[in-house]
Amino acid sequence: MNTPTDKGLIDTGVMDEALDREWADLLSPTRRQWIRYTGLAVGSVALASLATPSLATQSSGLADAGKNYAEPPHKPGESPWGYETYKQPTPRPFSARPGEKQLPAQPRAYTDIKSYHAHIYFDEDTYEKAALIRHWSAERFLVELGDWNLEPRGPHTTPSFYFGFTNDLLPKIVPWLQLNSLGLTILIHPNTVDPRADHLYYALWVNRTQPVNAFDWPTLEKRKDLSVEQIYPNTKPHVELEA
Ligand code: ZN
Repeated sequence: MNTPTDKGLIDTGVMDEALDREWADLLSPTRRQWIRYTGLAVGSVALASLATPSLATQSSGLADAGKNYAEPPHKPGESPWGYETYKQPTPRPFSARPGEKQLPAQPRAYTDIKSYHAHIYFDEDTYEKAALIRHWSAERFLVELGDWNLEPRGPHTTPSFYFGFTNDLLPKIVPWLQLNSLGLTILIHPNTVDPRADHLYYALWVNRTQPVNAFDWPTLEKRKDLSVEQIYPNTKPHVELEA
């Protein structure tokens, strides 16, 4: 039984629907609980049935693949892991950031940043705060204000809305959002030719961070077109910024 982690997923570029599904099932608390209660044998059959023939025939080279998320069969009163686990060599995990193992030869130019996004995150308890930030922002800044996203969208794992803005507004918008976040989590990221890195490594967070879903997002080396996100302001600011 292969698991997605056994195959150096991002390195090989193996991304398909069945694999997505397998990941989702592996990460599902309900399924994990079900596997735990019904034992590995049943869980393996269920997981195997989700895999495509091509996945099932791919060899991970690991006879024990799959034991990390469910207990192997074992005799009552004995450890399912055996008694030699302390002798295991230290494994090195597959890189989640292929192509980033080398240190860069020189720093990136700050002028690579063409614009910014601010993503404001909220939930069922904080949506009114988000609405106030949205209203206040649109009254004061010439920005590109997007729609409400009531469900996870793209890399954003909770409900959110965003506005995009040009570089010249950065010195005002960052401190303004710091003082007017109302406690919400806000991601401010630059827009360069590398949107994956923009969200994962070049980010500014207001208050706390939260997970960013970069699954299946190509690294810069694998991007086919090197376009940069454009900003088309759509607000009509009419309130003078408090100062
Ligand atoms: Zn964005």
